[in-house]
Amino acid sequence: MSLGFYVDMTQCIGCRTCQVACKDRMNLQSAGPRCRRVDTFECGEYPEVGMFTSVISCNHCENPACVANCPVGAMYKDPETGLVLHDDNLCIKCETCMRSCPYGAPQHDMVEDLIIKCDTCKDLRAAGMQPTCVAACPMRALDFGEMDDLRAKYGDDLVSELPFLPTADTTTPNLLIKPSESAKSETFNPVVM
Ligand code: SF4
Ligand code: SF4
Ligand code: SF4
Repeated sequence: MSLGFYVDMTQCIGCRTCQVACKDRMNLQSAGPRCRRVDTFECGEYPEVGMFTSVISCNHCENPACVANCPVGAMYKDPETGLVLHDDNLCIKCETCMRSCPYGAPQHDMVEDLIIKCDTCKDLRAAGMQPTCVAACPMRALDFGEMDDLRAKYGDDLVSELPFLPTADTTTPNLLIKPSESAKSETFNPVVM
């Protein structure tokens, strides 16, 4: 089983509703940690310029670097669902997973002193609900499910890497993106808002 996320960059308006809804669901009290991160980029060269929004969480990768590098087995790939999950009780907070993940998914919540990352809202899904970020998006730009089902639903022209993202070869992320034209640009800079 391979569960993952779909992101439609052609529909995303960068409103950050998914990011805020996730922070609320994860009960993150400080501004820093974000399990779903929304970031704005400018791209191109004058006069051919554009903007795009990156929306990303843990990608529940097939070959997760965080799992491979955790010294105590606190980050693990669930054998039944394939999800990359974290065991608070085993974790020694060495932050090796944070340094290993090319997507910056594991983060240290200093308020609770816990390593946090997306768990796909698995408890909510078990109760028949969608992941919080997916349900919150006003543009229906996000979806979650079996990768084959997502491909069947959204088409074959989806990608798992773009110039602004790490190469997918490293961890084989369960991430399907419908890119905007701007997101394909080889020249880009983050916009700090
Ligand atoms: S911070 Fe915790 S989960 Fe991450 S590598 Fe260290 S022990 Fe493993
Ligand atoms: S699935 Fe849940 S934990 Fe994961 S990014 Fe979305 S809201 Fe956050
Ligand atoms: S809630 Fe939807 S439209 Fe808003 S930033 Fe997130 S993915 Fe984009």
